[in-house]
Amino acid sequence: MSRYSKDWREISMEVKEKADWKCAKCGADFKDKKSSRKGNCLQVHHWNRIPEDNRPENLVALCNVCHLEYHRGRKGNISIDQLSLNL
Ligand SMILES: [Zn+2]
Ligand SMILES: [Zn+2]
Repeated sequence: MSRYSKDWREISMEVKEKADWKCAKCGADFKDKKSSRKGNCLQVHHWNRIPEDNRPENLVALCNVCHLEYHRGRKGNISIDQLSLNL
């Protein structure tokens, strides 16, 4: 958690707003929050997997399903536990 900057919540909100609350991969729409009820939610992914790197071009909005897919089977430096903080 300490790896995330203090204004992460603000930054991630901005990314989601810019993405129009849609997953960049599957296009799931989270604006009406219906999708969230299925236990899915929109998260922000770091392309280079460096949580300190909050440049806009390094950030992308993904639903948690697609997000996990990006991390699964790869040698990421982030654990699933950390992912749950990655709101
Ligand atoms: Zn998705
Ligand atoms: Zn990620």
